[in-house]
Amino acid sequence: MIVDLRSCSHPAEVDLCIVGGGAAGIALAREFVGTKINVAMLESGGNDFNAEIQALYDGESIGEPYYQRLDQCRTRRFGGSTNCWGGMCTPMTEIDFRKRAWVPYSGWPITNHDMQTYLKRAHKLCGIGPYAYDEDTWKVLGASAIPFDPDKLWSHFWQINNRHGDRQVRFAAKFRTELEQAKNIGVYLHANVTRLNLNHQGERVESLRIETLEGRTSTIKAKLFVLACGGIENVRLLLVSDQQRTAGIGNDYDAVGRYFNEHLQAPCATVKLNPKNVRFCDYSRLWPLGRSHALPGLTLSPRAQEKHQTLNASLSADPVFHADHAWTVIKNVRHDLAQRKLSVSALKNVIRILRGSRVLVPDVYRRMVHGGRPTGDPTEYTLYARAEQAPNPASRIRLTAEVDRLGMRKLALDWHTTEMDRRAFPVLVDAARTEFERLGLGVVQEHAWVREQAWPNTLAGGPHHMGTTRMSDDPRYGVVDRNAKVHGVQSLYIAGSSVFPTGGHANCTLTLLATTLRLADRLKKELARIVPSRAHVPAVLVPDLLLATQGNAPVRWTPGAGGR
Ligand SMILES: Cc1cc2nc3c(=O)[nH]c(=O)nc-3n(C[C@H](O)[C@H](O)[C@H](O)COP(=O)(O)OP(=O)(O)OC[C@H]3O[C@@H](n4cnc5c(N)ncnc54)[C@H](O)[C@@H]3O)c2cc1C
Repeated sequence: MIVDLRSCSHPAEVDLCIVGGGAAGIALAREFVGTKINVAMLESGGNDFNAEIQALYDGESIGEPYYQRLDQCRTRRFGGSTNCWGGMCTPMTEIDFRKRAWVPYSGWPITNHDMQTYLKRAHKLCGIGPYAYDEDTWKVLGASAIPFDPDKLWSHFWQINNRHGDRQVRFAAKFRTELEQAKNIGVYLHANVTRLNLNHQGERVESLRIETLEGRTSTIKAKLFVLACGGIENVRLLLVSDQQRTAGIGNDYDAVGRYFNEHLQAPCATVKLNPKNVRFCDYSRLWPLGRSHALPGLTLSPRAQEKHQTLNASLSADPVFHADHAWTVIKNVRHDLAQRKLSVSALKNVIRILRGSRVLVPDVYRRMVHGGRPTGDPTEYTLYARAEQAPNPASRIRLTAEVDRLGMRKLALDWHTTEMDRRAFPVLVDAARTEFERLGLGVVQEHAWVREQAWPNTLAGGPHHMGTTRMSDDPRYGVVDRNAKVHGVQSLYIAGSSVFPTGGHANCTLTLLATTLRLADRLKKELARIVPSRAHVPAVLVPDLLLATQGNAPVRWTPGAGGR
């Protein structure tokens, strides 16, 4: 069931309480549908975007330039940031989980092998094509990879679910009916969790404080709790819960909020193709694959990373369309028409392009029907790099003295990049340049910033917020253990990319869904042990005294009727 907490209430106690109804929270809740476990999912947002709720995400950015304010890099609404994500998926690879001698604080306590079944399950949640991300995908597409030297560059794919009008999977929309109909799951919207309460001994979370923007406050108890509020907000809840432990929960070693890392993304080079060898065009195509598109990419091979003592990084290729290219002309005309003006030069260009309709028509068809990129006749490409950051304890999130509308202290992000973070870019571009020359594909011209000290103003983050409650078996270097349980607290777990010890180059959501499903399996076992066996599936019921009010008339909420 899905209920609006402004007009209904929640049970006093459940078996499992999930805070946050974004990608991780929804993936976790679904795992318990139809089980004997009573679940409450508390979500701050409602069904639609609301500026007042979004403002609760406000915070400062005081380190390297990031989004000006912290409410600009995530969405506080049922479904979380999947309401605005790009839907690009690719898994991490073996090296990303490994301890790399040259990367301080690297190494996950779990291996790529441990993650495989979960990645495949996570992949199914993203509404994309078959599980195909490595070089063999070229065969599935009926094409072949360019034989780049495997000691330098590896082929891989992203999948982007934007075919057949599907667009990106919005988790709330996709899984709403399933959650609405589940008798043992209660999704409470407009429920802001503002504090975690520990028991007297300070060793287990016993309850949570919930507030609505309308001033209702309540408490919910559970046997187990999971924070799934995203990589920034998970930190805030741990730090503001400082009644018994003054440094906050799980923060005995001052690790909460540290190691914040992003994917560093920027255009880094231009490729001019050899007119006699345009095979590289295939690497910029969005290839139809099942319900999704596959976008080819190149990653720095593990051997090159080790040889150059650098981080994982990848390249994708965007065709460059010059001002006279058909696609650019159409875009400009559309822009002119929206401004109610059409220049003579634009008209001349349209006539010229229409004469060349042999190229234009298939392009328009591809764009409109398949949502793909135009092929046209590009001979020039921008290479777009995505690189991981080395874990850095100085890159961190802290509480500030400022409070939000609910009286909760706000956050400041002090994001740092290091010399090591920079090193991957020249190594990646060098690998591309030498390989393009060797294979006669064309000329790679790096952008000036690649070897300079400053970042380009095109630098962007995912936005992927990783590392702030990282996984480590040693509580001095991490907030959660290998099972995503908060160190030193018996009943508290964390889901999401904040548990990543390192981020690889891969967009984070597929991996965070996989770690969440792994957590779900763990919680099922744990709950089977501590929840008394029940003869029937418990319904999450709104107690009698918790009558919803519409206007002045009390209304009994009916399970299964759904909320607003
Ligand atoms: C513009 C943009 C583009 C992106 N593109 C991609 C992409 O192409 N590929 C990719 O892999 N990733 C992408 N991402 C990242 C992706 O959206 C996130 O990795 C993913 O949504 C994180 O899931 P989550 O459940 O951990 O957090 P979220 O999805 O952020 O969900 C957190 C939920 O918790 C709720 N919440 C927060 N605080 C509280 C509280 N105190 N009480 C109750 N509820 C609370 C929020 O309302 C929200 O619903 C993108 C992100 C953005 C912003």
